[in-house]
Amino acid sequence: RVNISLDTLRPERFRALTRVGDLQNTLNGIEAALNAGFERIKLNAVILKNRNHDEVIDLVDFAISHGIDISFIEEMPLGVIHDHDRAEVFYSSDDIFSDLNQRYKLIPTTESTGGPSRYYRLIGHSTRIGFISPHSHNFCEQCNRVRLTAEGRLLLCLGQENSIDLRRSVRANPLDDAPLRKAILDSMHHKPRGHDFDLNEQPVIFRHMNTTGG
Ligand code: SF4
Repeated sequence: RVNISLDTLRPERFRALTRVGDLQNTLNGIEAALNAGFERIKLNAVILKNRNHDEVIDLVDFAISHGIDISFIEEMPLGVIHDHDRAEVFYSSDDIFSDLNQRYKLIPTTESTGGPSRYYRLIGHSTRIGFISPHSHNFCEQCNRVRLTAEGRLLLCLGQENSIDLRRSVRANPLDDAPLRKAILDSMHHKPRGHDFDLNEQPVIFRHMNTTGG
């Protein structure tokens, strides 16, 4: 399974939203993932009002034409940014749902990937459409996710700083993974109940998503 960020299908927007990106590289990557035979490929699209909200149907059309899934995500206030006001550009999952309903009939499912997406199906297509709605439909009570950074830090919540250093455990016990297992299990006692995101306040998490990893 592989998740790929794709917020727009327009090259100039892609560069503006990612600051450095080249849309064609991402499209090539999607083709490469399809050719490599991944069973479930999912696009993740963060939708912002007046930035890319007019592309939600185009993005679903793209997902359908490639036989892959797509999740729409409400922007999370991670890290300090200066190029937009997060409250002003907020575009809720309900807004997206209503836009998509003009073209498609979305059928709710009970499917889950163990993550926070609420999934819908489309008649006659294999594509699933997910909604990740940290602001409008808080999902923290169902969360079973932790994330491992490239430096070996296990982050216990995207919206809090709680973490443990697994690299130290691995380096101290290179031939024995029992301490690592214990560290992971013990860390679950420190997993926060949820985030404290508030779009009208300055972010309390200074870690940008790209330092966390997908
Ligand atoms: S508990 Fe943390 S990681 Fe889980 S869904 Fe909420 S904010 Fe995200």
